[in-house]
Amino acid sequence: MSSSSSSHRIHFPKDQIEDEFCLCGDRLVVKTSWTHLNPGRRFLSCRNYGTSHECKKFKWLDAELPNQYYKDMLFNFHLQFKGFNDNPNMDQLEESKKEVVKLMEELSLTKSKNVVYDRIIMFQIVVIVVLCIVIGAIAF
Ligand SMILES: [Zn+2]
Repeated sequence: MSSSSSSHRIHFPKDQIEDEFCLCGDRLVVKTSWTHLNPGRRFLSCRNYGTSHECKKFKWLDAELPNQYYKDMLFNFHLQFKGFNDNPNMDQLEESKKEVVKLMEELSLTKSKNVVYDRIIMFQIVVIVVLCIVIGAIAF
């Protein structure tokens, strides 16, 4: 697995950062790790990190994921998303669309079944109430 990261300037968490600058004078940047060990985990470092002895500032901004299960899941999602963006597969897209349509149909079928069940239950309650009233009227 190759290590990769993406740099972005959005959401610069000022409260977590003591220094904004590296010893080399460059501003520190927030990046997101996409390694297998730390998928989706943001960190703060110099853009020249690892290239010079001065540029050693590195700080994780996000907590580590609780276990390898979540790491694998996020890592694989990232790979799939990345792969799809690099090489959009139209067959796969069509298949996904069909799957979405199928799931929507299943969902609406389930919803209509629920409506029918609700009506049956309401009908049963009405019958029981009517029976109670009739029995009560006969008894007294
Ligand atoms: Zn630096």
